Amino acid sequence: MTTDSLSLDQFFHSFPKADLHYHLLGGVRLSTMLDFASKYGVELSERDAKSYYRAHQRETGIVKGGIEALTFLYQIMKEPEDYARVLFEVAEDAHACGVRYIETFWNPNDTELSYATVTDALAEAIDKTQQQFGIVIRLIPSINREKSPEEAVEMVNMMLDYSHPYALGIGIDYKEHNAPVEHFWKAYKLAQKNGLRLTAHCSEFGLHWRNVETGIELLQLERIDHGYTIIDNLELTNHYAKTGIPFTVIPSNTYYFTQWPDHQDWCLNHPIRTMAKAGLNIIPCTDDWHIHNTTSANCYRVMVEDFGFDLDSLRQMMVNSIQASWADDDTKQQWLKQWCHEFDSLRSQLAAEPTIPADKLIQYRR
Ligand SMILES: [Zn+2]
Repeated sequence: MTTDSLSLDQFFHSFPKADLHYHLLGGVRLSTMLDFASKYGVELSERDAKSYYRAHQRETGIVKGGIEALTFLYQIMKEPEDYARVLFEVAEDAHACGVRYIETFWNPNDTELSYATVTDALAEAIDKTQQQFGIVIRLIPSINREKSPEEAVEMVNMMLDYSHPYALGIGIDYKEHNAPVEHFWKAYKLAQKNGLRLTAHCSEFGLHWRNVETGIELLQLERIDHGYTIIDNLELTNHYAKTGIPFTVIPSNTYYFTQWPDHQDWCLNHPIRTMAKAGLNIIPCTDDWHIHNTTSANCYRVMVEDFGFDLDSLRQMMVNSIQASWADDDTKQQWLKQWCHEFDSLRSQLAAEPTIPADKLIQYRR
């Protein structure tokens, strides 16, 4: 081994990455949540704050979900500067993991602030962080599906009234159980008609594959967030493998943690492995960075060490992430060339390639 060789951990932290499924408020640090509460005189003990963060849930004995954390955070972020601070910290954390590009969701219907005010604050922070860290961040205003479809239409109208080059398209998130994506068809049609890009959380939490099909066929989504139960329909899975519609997948997904509590089973039976084997276009993402106690580097580490993908698979996923992004075509071409070169060069400096048992190994190519 030479002295300048890279460890796998250094490799996971340094190759260029794009995160296309990132909830802005999932990236709020614990200390920042506590600062916001204290700034606005909201009663919040450290123990209560920790119960929102997976890293601390064992010690608090209380488990609150990621969605509860987001709802709470929107209530204690009352000024535009709070959004700017969060975006800056998101960029700082992501930069430390080699992330070059993020498309981040935020929910305009969940804040008292106007759409224009938050967009301006975020856009200013985006320019600052691009200068400081070289990271590019773009916005995906997202529908809170626990609210009415009419509020979703209002959200799209707000975007159209205050059109901003950094707001690329729309998404939808929160609990899907009683709010399948077709309920929001008017908002999606309006967005599409006006040139906005379309993605949606579908078939998360083990919900039926129909939600993915409806999203793609009826609403003409360009990307699916999660979509794991598509594998329950082999014919459709094969069809979408051919058409190449991108799925942003989350290796640290909470629902599947509870389905397969035994670690080995969880790794081997995780739908992400099945999706990859079927040849679907998958992109590993973080979802809720601090709330779920993950990072982009960890995300790719899990793909290798827990799920058994080799490094060529990771390179393929990195390529997928660029191609599935909503950056312009020239930028994508430039990134493809540059990032692949960097990936290969860093890989050649590895002290050793990961050792993956043959019965676990996945060679994902598209
Ligand atoms: Zn999500």
